Amino acid sequence: MAQGGSILILGGTTEGRELASRLHSAGRDFVLSLAGRTEEPLTVGTVRTGGFGGVEGLTRYLRSNRIETVVDATHPFAVTMSRNATLACREAGVALIRLDRPGWESHPGADTWDWVDDHQQAAAAVRGSRVLLTVGRLHTLDYSPTLDDRFVLARVTEPPDRALPRGWQLLVSRGPFNLDGERSLFREHRIDCLVTKDSGGAQTAAKLTAAAEAGAQVVVVRRSATDARARTTSTVDEALAALAD
Ligand code: NAP
Repeated sequence: MAQGGSILILGGTTEGRELASRLHSAGRDFVLSLAGRTEEPLTVGTVRTGGFGGVEGLTRYLRSNRIETVVDATHPFAVTMSRNATLACREAGVALIRLDRPGWESHPGADTWDWVDDHQQAAAAVRGSRVLLTVGRLHTLDYSPTLDDRFVLARVTEPPDRALPRGWQLLVSRGPFNLDGERSLFREHRIDCLVTKDSGGAQTAAKLTAAAEAGAQVVVVRRSATDARARTTSTVDEALAALAD
């Protein structure tokens, strides 16, 4: 792999961690940046934590640390960070590579799911009375009051800031989740509707199969459009190849 200048990885995902580990093994100079919201499993190399202070702060960071390439490996739904990265890279004249794992649109049965544009539409689309809600800490309460009259099992990696409505149940649990576990969860709670974002990846995909087997409705929040001008890769290997170019 060609040796280049300093690389900033915007992380918070499995792919970001894996890219850091591969660059570390290759002896490349990089910084892995994390938002610092959740506990992150051990990572290698140089890690910085916390926001940059918007587009201006990130632009300053890129210049003062002589960053030559940014790899945006944030979660597909971390849209603010991705937008800031696009603007700051343009401003500072830094190359930007997006590492965007494919969504679940090709998953078996995806054509039967209810695809919606946002969480408000997702809440309105729910037909079931026993819902597995897997939309992340920040959006869980967007489903109240619409779903206050249903049983909602809200699975999150970190608990939301406010209490859940009465009748909802919190399940704090970090993936990956396997199919047997997901089947048990659907059975135990008699889930008849799954709500998820189109996060993609294998680590949390078993719930989609379990939902199909249980005959449950699946409501999926679509990704928003990304900047078509950024070079986009969908795997860590592709991102490494793009870095070598
Ligand atoms: P977001 O709304 O796009 O970002 C909000 C702010 O958090 C950004 O403006 C930035 O602050 C800071 N930030 C986000 N990612 C950062 C990073 N890698 N390094 C430094 N600062 C970062 O992001 P979010 O949806 O809250 O997600 C936060 C983090 O969790 C992301 O790194 C993402 O990869 C990870 N994550 C998100 C989801 C999800 O569903 N959204 C799921 C799993 C993991 P400043 O403006 O101050 O720079």
